[in-house]
This record gives sequence, structure tokens and C-alpha cells, in this order.
Amino acid sequence: MKKLIDFPYSHVLVLGLAKSGTAAAKVLLESGIKVRINDLKASEQDESVISLQSLGAEVITGGHPLSVLDGIELIVKNPGISYENVLLKEAMDRDIPIITEIELAGNLAEGTIVGITGSNGKTTTTTLVYEMLRHSGEKVKLAGNIGIVATEVARELPTDAKMVLELSSFQLMGIQSFRPKVAVLLNLFEAHLDYHKTFSNYMSAKGAIFQNQLQDDYLVYNADDPNVVTLTAEAKSVKVPFSVKNKQENGAWTDHVHVYFKEEKIIAIEDIVLVGTHNLENILAAISAAKLSGATNEGIQEVLTSFAGVTHRLQFVTQIHERFIYNDSKATNILATQKALSSFSKPTILLAGGLDRGNEFDELIPYFTNVKAVVVFGQTAEKIRNTALKAGIHTIVSASDVQDAAQKAYAISEKGDVILLSPACASWDQYRTFEERGDMFMQAVHTIK
Ligand code: ADP
Repeated sequence: MKKLIDFPYSHVLVLGLAKSGTAAAKVLLESGIKVRINDLKASEQDESVISLQSLGAEVITGGHPLSVLDGIELIVKNPGISYENVLLKEAMDRDIPIITEIELAGNLAEGTIVGITGSNGKTTTTTLVYEMLRHSGEKVKLAGNIGIVATEVARELPTDAKMVLELSSFQLMGIQSFRPKVAVLLNLFEAHLDYHKTFSNYMSAKGAIFQNQLQDDYLVYNADDPNVVTLTAEAKSVKVPFSVKNKQENGAWTDHVHVYFKEEKIIAIEDIVLVGTHNLENILAAISAAKLSGATNEGIQEVLTSFAGVTHRLQFVTQIHERFIYNDSKATNILATQKALSSFSKPTILLAGGLDRGNEFDELIPYFTNVKAVVVFGQTAEKIRNTALKAGIHTIVSASDVQDAAQKAYAISEKGDVILLSPACASWDQYRTFEERGDMFMQAVHTIK
């Protein structure tokens, strides 16, 4: 296993244990660096704590006394911990740099790094790039925000392999020398302002993905997003635009019949399984990143003609007697459901409802053009029923939960319909997570089958 090289710090505080903190602490210790670990919830009896102590770590649990900063030169923090944390504020006052484990992964990885960020579409694009490279016979590993600790993957990454990394703005903040060979910036919407405070802070965090890139690196960026265009203007790397609107001589584009990379025709749109304009953007970004990292057109085509979407994200579940069933349980807000509804031109039965956050749903009305029926459930059932009524929809059915909704939707469906779970609400009124809600829905769909 590899150790950190040219790492300029000898006393490091790891803040927050979890999976990534544990991996970071381990690699630091094994690289001969003095490590102090501070975690609010961990207990001295935890297996991970005991094993890190046996490697020489000093572990402080149960609180964040300011004294944990004494003698510390660098903090590796869990991406979830807010900069409002008292300890981090004090660290900033003391000018102690704060990074995340991604910086360590960048130091360790010997192979090529493809890094992907943006407000939306990260998981889908990351998965596509990974699959395109895999189907092209490349040695490739998946890691990062997608749920696989980057440091662990980076430590074992062979020189001739590629690591495709999903990166959140939280992970990118504080980057020092992390430098992906291919960086992808998908889009920039107002997001996570509770964490980043201002949109410009959030933009700078996302911009960290290319800040260390040099002339022989690539930056794939969304030429249709003005915020992205502004942010990337200063990049030193070779800029590779993608656009669903205009031809791009140096990047990926579409005439809405075929998809092209530069002058080369890659695939016909009708052969692509993934639906939705937003997914077309993700596909163009993925094709660019994959082509720049060595993917073949055959590998790319294999993926696009079979990949049905990441689970719970406008995922094609199955077809039953010519009803096309989609699970978009990840759509926990109105914007996501608007996108889902815009993805279909077939008559659609929408299944929606969930946690009531106090908002109304009338912003969905303009997107109801193809909606023929709505099945409502959860705390917001009545609100969504009223929205559907205002939109002039006659068939509105109440269901007790997503399983019941699946049955009832099928019962009122006809050949050629789309049955779409895209709740526009969080799941916590009835389910632990949106994943659980989506799984329940898919199970119910398979029993119909
Ligand atoms: P992330 O990992 O960034 O959360 P996902 O790939 O998991 O993104 O997609 C989550 C949701 O975001 C999708 O269900 C869809 O509603 C929306 N989405 C995906 N890609 C895009 C995009 N390129 N532009 C806008 N919205 C998108």
C-alpha cells in the first residue's frame, strides 16, 4: 500500500471519524505522520478507534475542546462538518489549513484521475464515465462522493489505471494540490447555501476542481450554463465544452438526432436508453470525459444502449404489458419532478407525495401537459390533489403508500403509458430514506409483473 509523498505536514488533526476519516487517519499514520483524531460521537470502545490507537493515533471523543488544535498544522475534516463549527472557526483564526480526504487521495493516486462535480447529475455522469471506460477495456475504479472512500481506492490504484471520482463542493473546499487529469463541471445551481453562505463561495468551491490543472489537463464544462462559463474562463487547462443547444467544434454536442464528439458521430439519440434532457447533458459530459480518457466508441455505445439510469434517479424499472415504469424516488423537490415530467412525451401517470415542508405544488402545473392521472400519497397528498385539480386532471387517486400507489397506477393504466414515481417531496413522513421508498416501489412493481 502506498504512502503519502512530499506531504509537508507532520501533525495532523482528523476531524470526524466515519469511513473517510478512518481511512485518512490510517494512511497518515502509516506515512509516519502524527495523528490526533477528534470525533463527537465515537466511543473509546469502537473497533475503529481501538485499531487507530494501536497504530499510534491520539483519540479524543465526546466533545470538541479547543485544545485539540494545539500543535496541529493541518486539519483533515469530514466533508459533512460545517465551517460554522466552533473548532473550525478557531482553526481558521489560527491559520490552520483545512482539507478533506480527497486531497490525500490526490497525493496517493498514481494512475489518472477523472474528477466530476456540479450541482446536479454527478452520480449519473460519474457512473456513465466509469462504465464507458470499463466497457472499453480500461482498468478503472469508481470512488468519492458516490460512497466509496477515495483514499482507499487511490492507495491501491495501479499506474496504468484510472480513478473516476464523484466530487461534492464540500469535498473540494480547501483543495491544495489535488489535480485531476480530466475535470468535469456539469452545472451550477443555487445549492447548499446553508453550508457555503453565498453563491460565490459555492462557485469557488466547485472551481477548486480545476484550480491546479495545467496546460496538458482537460476541463469538460457545460457551455449552456452561464455560471459555469464565467467560472471556467480563467482555467489553464484545455477547455472541452459540451452543449445540448449549439454545435461545439472542440467538444460534445447534439443535433437531437445524433450525438457527436467534435466532428465524430457517436450514437443516435433513439438508441440511448436514458431519458430526459438533463440526462442528455450528463451523457455529453460523460462522452467527453470518457473519450479524453481513452474510451472507445464501441464501449460508449454499449453503455448508452443498455444503461437504464442510476437507481432511484429517473431509473427505468421495467415494462409490463407496454406500460413503461420509472423510479425517480430521488426527486425530493419540485424542480426534480419538473425535470422528470419534461422527460416524457407519452401519456404519464404521476405518483407523488411525501413529507410536508409547508410549500405548495402549483409550480408543477405547467409540466402536467402529458399527465393523464395522478396518484397521491403521504402528508402532501391533499395539496398535490388540489394542484392536479387546478391543472384540469380528472383522474386523481389516493393511495396509502408507494406500494399501494404502484398497484393503483397500474390498475388505471393503458398500453403506451408511462408510470412515474417522482414524489416532489422528501420521504421521511413514511420511509427512512428515498432509497427505501424507491425500493418499496420497485418491489411492488415486480409483484404486478
Ligand atoms: P447528484 O449526484 O449530483 O445528486 P444525480 O445524478 O444523482 O445527481 O441526479 C439527481 C437528480 O438531479 C436527478 O434525479 C435529476 O432530477 C437531477 N439531475 C440530474 N442530472 C441533471 C442535470 N444535468 N441538470 C439538472 N438536473 C439534473
